[in-house]
Amino acid sequence: MQRTSSTAVSAAIGASLLALVVVASPVPVLQAQAGPDVQAAVDAAYAKYKGLKEGKNADYIPALAKVDPNLFGIAVVTADGKVYTAGDVKTEVSIQSISKVFTMAQVIQEQGLESIEKRIGVDATGARFNSIIAIEGVRSVVGTGAPEMNALVNPGAISSTSMVTGGSADAVWAKIIGFHNDAAGRPLTVLEDVYKSESDSNQRNQAIGALMFAYGYIKTDWKQAVDLYTRQCSIGVNAKDLAMMAATLAFGGTNPVTKKQVMDSAKVPGVLAVMATAGLYDDSGKWLYHTGLPAKSGVGGGIIAVSPGKFGIAVVSPPLDDAGNSVRAQKAMADISNALGGNPYALAKKN
Ligand code: GLN
Repeated sequence: MQRTSSTAVSAAIGASLLALVVVASPVPVLQAQAGPDVQAAVDAAYAKYKGLKEGKNADYIPALAKVDPNLFGIAVVTADGKVYTAGDVKTEVSIQSISKVFTMAQVIQEQGLESIEKRIGVDATGARFNSIIAIEGVRSVVGTGAPEMNALVNPGAISSTSMVTGGSADAVWAKIIGFHNDAAGRPLTVLEDVYKSESDSNQRNQAIGALMFAYGYIKTDWKQAVDLYTRQCSIGVNAKDLAMMAATLAFGGTNPVTKKQVMDSAKVPGVLAVMATAGLYDDSGKWLYHTGLPAKSGVGGGIIAVSPGKFGIAVVSPPLDDAGNSVRAQKAMADISNALGGNPYALAKKN
C-alpha cells in the first residue's frame, strides 16, 4: 500500500519527493522492531551455549588459568546506543589481544593509514599469534623490516605499541589507555594481577620484541614497547565494554552512547580490514567464511566483532580452542550475527 501510494505521489509533481521520503522511509519502523529481535537472538544464543564445556582457559599466563571458566556474557550495541545483554556482562577479564586493535587504531588515527602499512604491513601471517617462525619467514623471503606482517599478532602488535608517540612511557601509556577509554565510553583500569603475572612470564614476547627491533620494525626502546604492550593486554573489560568498543568501530569511529568521535570515519575501514584478515589468527579465514565479520579475539576469553553500520557485538567466555579463540564466543556471535543479518557480504534479508 505504502509503495503504491508513494509511487503515485512521486510521479505527480517534484514537490512530492519529500512526501516519498517521508512515506516510504523504513527507518522508524525498523527501529521499533529492532529491540525484541536483537534481544531474542541474544537470549537464544545464551540458552543454546550456556552448558557448552568445550575448550580450556589459557594457562601460559598463570593468572588466566584462575579465571572462572563458566563466566559467559553477551552484549550487542546497536546504532541508537541500545545495549542488549545476556549472562554476566559485569565481571571483567583482561582484554588481551583485543587491545591490539585499538592501539593500532590509535597509531592510524594519529599517523595515518600508511604508517602501519609501511612499517608493519597488513598481511595475514597464517601462523599462531606468537609465532617466531612467522617473523623469520617474512625476513627470509623479503628481507629485514619488510612490511609483510600485521598489527594483530604479537610481533606486529608490539611494534605498533612502539609507534605510539610520547615523551615518556607514561605519556605513551596515557594515549593508549585514553583511546581504549574513549572507545569503551568509560575509564578502564589495568588488572594488576594479570599485568604482574604476564610480566613475570612474558619472556617469549621479550624475545619477539628484541627480534622486531633487530629486524628494524621497532625503532624505539623495545623493552618499553613490550612492557606497555603487556600492560595494554591487562586492561580489564567486561562484555559490555567490549561490545561498546566494537560498536565504536561499527559506527564510523563514534561511540554510539557518548557520541565522542574517537577516530576519523575514513580510517575505520582500514582497521576493520586487518581485523577481517587476521583478527582470529590462523582461524581468521574460517571465522570470516561463516560470519563475514571483522573480529578480534583475546586469550582472556573475549571476542569482539563488527557489523558496519549495524551493530557491535562481544562475548566473554574464557575457554579457548587450539588457535586461542574462545569457543563459546565464536559460536554465540556467529548465531546472533546471522540471525540479525549482520554479514556485510550478504544481501539484506527481505522480511
Ligand atoms: N598478552 C597475550 C600475549 O602476548 C595476548 C595474546 C592473545 O590474546 N592472543 O601472549
